[in-house]
Amino acid sequence: MNNFNWDSSFMVDFDTFSGISKTAKATQRKLSQMKGMFYDEKLTDKILEKEDPVIYEFYELCCPERAGDLAFGTTILYSGKVGNEYYMTKGHFHTIIDTAEVYYALDGEGYMVMENLEGDTVEVKVSKGQAVYVPRGYAHRTVNTGDKPLILFFTFAADAGHDYGTIETKGYHKMVVEKNGKAAIIDNPHWK
Ligand code: MN
Repeated sequence: MNNFNWDSSFMVDFDTFSGISKTAKATQRKLSQMKGMFYDEKLTDKILEKEDPVIYEFYELCCPERAGDLAFGTTILYSGKVGNEYYMTKGHFHTIIDTAEVYYALDGEGYMVMENLEGDTVEVKVSKGQAVYVPRGYAHRTVNTGDKPLILFFTFAADAGHDYGTIETKGYHKMVVEKNGKAAIIDNPHWK
């Protein structure tokens, strides 16, 4: 698995409905690995006493972090909520902050929630058949507001790197919650 020669052409499989690849490496993110990221931390603990749901998983090709290459893969973000807050990915800045990323929605619906270090925020609704461009300088997180998995194909500069720490410490300015039966974007009262 993943013994690709990145100096030559190769083919990999990605199922366009499920996002699943038989070739790429699957990584799961469970609720226990996202402690403190959902607004209702008490409820998070309460859920974890009973179960540890998979919030999302992604398939990657373990591309070398080498300038000039393109990393790519899929993310499967499950449908669900912690309280009224929709399931989401951890979100990150790129270590080389001025590197963009493209996400293409294969199925489902939700939001790409973005913010830069200056505190500018932007939320883009994304659903099946749409590509969203995450510009350089923006942290990005996906949120599933639908009732089935949100499945995305992504690609970015292979040497971009991932900075999860900034988001883990500070949180996001905005959060996506269900309000009166539909998705609403509100200020995160926990933002530091
Ligand atoms: Mn990224």
